[in-house]
Amino acid sequence: MRHIAVIGSGPAGYYTAEACQKAFGEDCRIDVIDRLPVPFGLIRTGVAPDHQSIKNVSRRYEAVALTDNVRFVGNVSVGQDITVAELQDLYDAVVLATGAPADRTIDIPGSDLPGVVGSAAFVGWYNGHPDHADLAPALHGPGAVVIGNGNVALDVARILAKAESEFDGSDIVQHALTALRAAKIDTITLLGRRGPHQIAMTPKELGELGNLSRATPVVDPADFPPVESDDALDPGQRKSVSHLRGYAATGAASDKPIRIIFDFFARPVEIRGQGQVDSVVVERTRLTADGRAEGSGETYEIPAGLVVSCIGYRTPAIPGVPYDEKQGRFANDEGRIAPGLYAVGWARRGPTGTIGTNKPDGYAIAEKIGEDLTGGSGKPGRPGLDSLLAARGIDVVTFRDWQKIDTAEIAAARDGAPREKFTRIDAMLAARGAAAD
Ligand code: NAP
Repeated sequence: MRHIAVIGSGPAGYYTAEACQKAFGEDCRIDVIDRLPVPFGLIRTGVAPDHQSIKNVSRRYEAVALTDNVRFVGNVSVGQDITVAELQDLYDAVVLATGAPADRTIDIPGSDLPGVVGSAAFVGWYNGHPDHADLAPALHGPGAVVIGNGNVALDVARILAKAESEFDGSDIVQHALTALRAAKIDTITLLGRRGPHQIAMTPKELGELGNLSRATPVVDPADFPPVESDDALDPGQRKSVSHLRGYAATGAASDKPIRIIFDFFARPVEIRGQGQVDSVVVERTRLTADGRAEGSGETYEIPAGLVVSCIGYRTPAIPGVPYDEKQGRFANDEGRIAPGLYAVGWARRGPTGTIGTNKPDGYAIAEKIGEDLTGGSGKPGRPGLDSLLAARGIDVVTFRDWQKIDTAEIAAARDGAPREKFTRIDAMLAARGAAAD
């Protein structure tokens, strides 16, 4: 019998569990351990609440979770409640699928001012992550600056710009909906340190900005290279750039009250304010021959009551696990960290790709486990974990418990919404008892 522990119940974790199950059949027991009492990681607290169709993939993870040889072990924090070394004593393979939930910080003067937040915190706030539910971002406006030109920056800009009715059918948490309803932001500036050809925004997501009821994207036509140069882009990027060209042609003429300004060739150099952010100082850049942004020395100031930095994420280190400080993820060789210890998903390769990218990642790591582990080694597996956690008084949440929490969240949904999430761990734990067995 192969005993496998997967740490993290997001896409990387469940695709790994699925792949191990397919590879080893009845000859394995897989425990998917999560520090939260609720599963699915980024699907629940990262994917935007108005992108429900993307969240449907959790049904596939649920099917895996409900099979006999896979178990969800929630509310157990690896590194605190149990060490990785202890897990390695209990399991033949330990796979770290812990994602990249920490912000890469923007290290410029003033970045610690109140009103400056990272995207992990801001996205976690509107998605009801217990770590960020109390964020209370500054939404007094009139300006907000979003740093970065990736899909997360797009999510943040769109959420700030949407009218309340545009959240119908979403699972945005009530505290965020209430705060956004009262927001007074009319100008959202997206800062890109490079140009339109260098954006990291996918076409579908960028296209959504053109269909918002009260906001319009604004792009300066002067920022584009000649239109013929779009031919050299790959098809997806060409489509994204064609959206931007469309916005450049129409945006400025719109009478919608909120403007989402794409400020290209603009890098933040300082954040100013007296006890709270008031403005961002930006330096004009130009592209170098090898495609990097180079400062021009010319600066200007953008008024902003809120700054959201969307410049990527890091995987938090876990004591005892080799870590690549520069890359912000576990040090690994194609997923192998040490004998019996693996990394998968963002914890392996950094925060790139879509949810689906984690599927081949999960299958690849199962293959490596198969190469390294020809059979079980007689380690204790599940019963060993259970007795250790019981001895430490850890209140473990099972998948059945999660189903009760899920039922309670669905029952609490406002009209048309799929659920109202619990945003506090104690409320999640209490909901296990509230729903009937
Ligand atoms: P990302 O795609 O890596 O984009 C990061 C952005 O931040 C880039 O535009 C980058 O510019 C910029 N940046 C980095 N350091 C900077 C600095 N010091 N100053 C100014 N700008 C800086 O990361 P992400 O947006 O966090 O997304 C993470 C992953 O999740 C991506 O693969 C993304 O596609 C995916 N995602 C997908 C969806 C979806 O499909 N709906 C939604 C959200 C996220 P440079 O290019 O110049 O480095």
